[in-house]
Amino acid sequence: MGGRGRKGGSSKSILPRDNLPGVFKGTEETLFTKNMIIGDSVYGEKRTTVIEDGEKIEYRQWDPSCKLAAAIRCGVGQIYMSPGSKVLYLGAASGTTVSHVSDIVGPEGLVYAVEFAPRPGRDLIDLSRKRTNIIPIIEDARYPRKYCMLIKMVDTIFADVAQPNQADIVGLNAQFFLKDEGHFVISIKANCIDRTAKPEVVFANEVTKMKEKGMEVREPLSLEPYQLGHAVVVGIYRPETVQW
Ligand code: SAM
Repeated sequence: MGGRGRKGGSSKSILPRDNLPGVFKGTEETLFTKNMIIGDSVYGEKRTTVIEDGEKIEYRQWDPSCKLAAAIRCGVGQIYMSPGSKVLYLGAASGTTVSHVSDIVGPEGLVYAVEFAPRPGRDLIDLSRKRTNIIPIIEDARYPRKYCMLIKMVDTIFADVAQPNQADIVGLNAQFFLKDEGHFVISIKANCIDRTAKPEVVFANEVTKMKEKGMEVREPLSLEPYQLGHAVVVGIYRPETVQW
């Protein structure tokens, strides 16, 4: 690891993002997270160092090529992740977005990062050696019983498994790990679910499935122009309404 970096930004050029603790913005709405491991780049992202009240702070640029960053750029009101949050992240891949969530939740928070493919799983394990608030779980998210001993209840589930049965996967993991009234943020890639239907129809069908699982869902938010054919849905888990 290690990568490009730009030093000496002005502290006034990077400011907290309204309503999203742990997320920062620079000029032209560029997003940043505060680097938990100063001097370290995870995937070659740009870094900016500023001195604030005599303390050196490094920010990592967070581009909308990450779906969560795209959701923020598209105006999602809340991501339900902030310093101290416990997050279950399904579909962690090599940890690109996980690393920003790790910055957001900080040393008091935890990111349980589930990924079943061995190769990205190895990168995730390497990442967790430096970022000790990441718990890598190299398992299949369809079978939460296999990793239930590793996870305590979480505040939020973020899902990006890009699978046709993603709503079932999230519903099952919510049943195991999401606290009542906890939140979820789900990235939906329309053509992973149905290549023949219009994206809006796919998103609406996914929302219907989620509602059947006790997940109260707000309107899907399109991630265009950053991610074509993608949307995120954000909602709250109220299991007493579940009809399995
Ligand atoms: N969220 C990642 C990021 O922003 O860096 C990208 C995730 S990629 C779209 C989807 C990932 O989900 C892949 O790495 C894939 O291996 C993983 N995945 C798919 N189905 C899964 C399952 N049932 N259990 C665990 N991981 C799964």
